[in-house]
This record gives sequence, structure tokens and C-alpha cells, in this order.
Amino acid sequence: MLRLHDTALGWGEELETREPGRISLYICGSTVYGPPHIGHGRFSLVYDVLRRFLEYSGFVVDHVSNVTDVDDKIIARANEERRRPEEIAEQYEAEWWDAMNTLGCLLPGRIPHATAFVEQMVELIAELVALGVAYETSDGVYFTVSAVEDYGLLAHQSLASLRSGARVEVNEKKRSPLDFALWKKAKPAEPWWASPWGPGRPGWHTECVVMSLALLGEGFDLHGGGQDLIFPHHENERAQAVAIGKQFARRWVHHGMVEARGGEKMSKSLGNVLLLSELFEQSDPRAYRLLVLQSHYRAPIEVTATTLSDAASALSRLDALSSRLSEPGTLDSERTDPDVRNVFADKMQDDLDTPGATAVLFDAIRRANVAFDAREASRGAELARAVLECFGAVGLEAKGVAEIPEAVLELGRRRDRARAGRDFATADVLRAEIVALGYIVEDTPAGTRIRR
Ligand SMILES: [Zn+2]
Repeated sequence: MLRLHDTALGWGEELETREPGRISLYICGSTVYGPPHIGHGRFSLVYDVLRRFLEYSGFVVDHVSNVTDVDDKIIARANEERRRPEEIAEQYEAEWWDAMNTLGCLLPGRIPHATAFVEQMVELIAELVALGVAYETSDGVYFTVSAVEDYGLLAHQSLASLRSGARVEVNEKKRSPLDFALWKKAKPAEPWWASPWGPGRPGWHTECVVMSLALLGEGFDLHGGGQDLIFPHHENERAQAVAIGKQFARRWVHHGMVEARGGEKMSKSLGNVLLLSELFEQSDPRAYRLLVLQSHYRAPIEVTATTLSDAASALSRLDALSSRLSEPGTLDSERTDPDVRNVFADKMQDDLDTPGATAVLFDAIRRANVAFDAREASRGAELARAVLECFGAVGLEAKGVAEIPEAVLELGRRRDRARAGRDFATADVLRAEIVALGYIVEDTPAGTRIRR
């Protein structure tokens, strides 16, 4: 069973799911106001690896990740470019999924958009006001954080110490600097929805608590995001759920940030942001996945020309091994080496130790080459198959693997047409046909993807 570090506990524990064999996962997604950068890429890769490994381990994964399509930053950009906020959100959301597809990330099972849940958010805010834990001011509705007894649980700080460290904003309207906006009253030329407090829009923290509970239900298994979201975003989501007496996420997972040069955190204000589109011009997108795998998900990673080119050359060793599977004698054994597979899984189950797991696989690549060189092709093939299976389990495909036959690809295209026509029964039959032929079917933003 997977042991995962829980931010609330501060240590790792085995992940016992709400329903056996099924895991519900809510990952805070993107605010679509600009082109995605390598920090976003790491985010998507980390949770793609987690999800794929859970699926490889036999779980059905309910993967929900939201899109924040109304927000101060979107509105600011729309004003700058003299365009409508919806246009900005649509454009950058499309760019987002394009980039994630290039990185080989699976599409989340469900992608709620904030603007589609405003009614439920208004209901939640009204409930909080009725309970006396939220108050209206001239510019919005705020949540009283002192009303939640264990506020600071995720930050591992008391309310008093959070208060002393709080940035004092120039906002006289709040009763306490840590209180946060549930509803923002509309200023002129801003998008708005009707509410008991007049036209306005919901705050970001309210969006995720409403959408995660609406789609995954109380006590869903795992809530994740970047370490920069622990406080205040996740603390504030949780505070709202606690205030209305609902059980929120059972476990919390957070990943580390991307550092650009010399340990500097990457940020737009530092001007050292590398866009994913720039990364794709410089290197094989698979190299970035490997770089992410070679770092522990909770540690920061350094993305530089050197770390990327090291990953690219490691990748070429994987590709070279996969092409050796066509050497004569490889079919004398149909086995896949079980030890490599087991050690890989053990490492992954230990808080997703992907650096340890990839080290195991690169050692197996070395041993496979030794076997091939010694004319023990069937032994080399056993190891090579295990390496390809394990890398495949975390979304890294070797080039040079046998091509998928045209007839199978055609089944995939027919499935896409059926899905486009909302004929899901036919799509399911076609999926079963492809699986029966020994292939794996994946849904990606670009449609059905078939692999061995
Ligand atoms: Zn969120």
C-alpha cells in the first residue's frame, strides 16, 4: 500500500481509501491568465505520475482538477489587452491543455470550472453568514478565521503566530488581517453574479471547497497542490468545511517548487520564468518528465540547461535499450523480470520515491545491456521488458518500441468519433476490443491514446 507524506500530520502513513480499490483525488488546478511555465509543468507531471502509479497498482482513480476561470489576474490581463475576461480564460486554458498533452499528462477525469459553480458558492457563503462565522463589509463578505478552533493545522502554526506573521494589508474593512474574502463585490467593468450581498464574484478559497465536496463528496481521499498553496489557500478551504461541519479531505499532499538558477525560486516577479513552449523548443518533453521523476516530489527541483541535457542523455539510454528488443533471441523468453518490477513498486510505495525507483530502472538498463552484449538476449529482454513496463507506469514511454498496428489505431479513431457523438456505449465496446487485443487505452486531451 502506498505510504504518502501527509501535510496535516507532518509524516507519512499508509493511504487507506474511503472505498476499497477506489481513490478520490482533488488537485487545485490552474488559473488561466497566461501561458503555462515549467512550474505548471512540474505540477501536472507530479500528479500525473501519482495517478498513473495508483492506476498501475489497480486503483480506480477519480481525478478532479479545477480551472479557475474568473480571478483578479484574469480581469487585470483582460483590461490590459482590452479584451473580455472570458476570452482570456478560454485562450489560456486551451494553451494549458495543449502543453500538458505535449508533456504526456492524462486529462483529469473531471475538470470543474469555477464559473459553473457560482450558485453553490453563494449558498455556502450564505450558510457561513447565517452561522455567524462570516460578515459583510462594504467591499465583500469575509470569513472569521478565529471561529475555527484548529485554524493553522496545515501551516503547523497557531492562530497567534500566523497573526504576528501576517502581512498587514491596507484593507480597513476586515476585522482581522487573516480573515479572507468569500465574496468580492463587483467594481465597475468587472464580471459579476447576483448574490444576497449584491453583484460580485466568489473568492478563490470558496471555489475549491465547493467543487471538491460537490464532485467527490465528504471525506474524499486526497487533496493536493503546490507547497505554496498550503497556506493560506488550503487552510482557508478547510476552515470553511470545518465551519459547516463537513468532513473535508482525509489526506493532504503537496509538491515542491521549481528553482531556476542557483536555488532561486522561479517567479514572474524575479523574471526567471521559463515557459513550457520555450522548454519544448530546447528539449524532448520526455526529458522534463524524467527530470521530475529524478527529484523527490516534495523537494525543489532545479531546471537548467545542464539538468535538462543530463536527463535527455539518460533518456537516450532508455530508447537505445528498447530498440534492442528487436535483436534476435529476445523471444526465447516471454518473461518480464519480476524483481525489477517489485523493487520499483516498493520504492514508489515509499512516499513516491521516484529518484530511488528511476535509479533501480537505470541499473536494470545497465544489466540488460551487459546481458545483450554477452549474447544472452533472452535475459536482456526480460530486464528490458520490466524497465519499459515500469517507466510506462509513470508515463515515460521509450521510443523505438514496436509500432501499434494500423488496425488497432483505427479502432481508437472510431472510439474518438463515437465519443465526439456522445455515443458512449459504442466507445466502451471499442475500448474493450482494444484492451482485449492486449493494449492499454488512455484518454488524453488529444483523444484516445493506445500503448502496449
Ligand atoms: Zn484550490
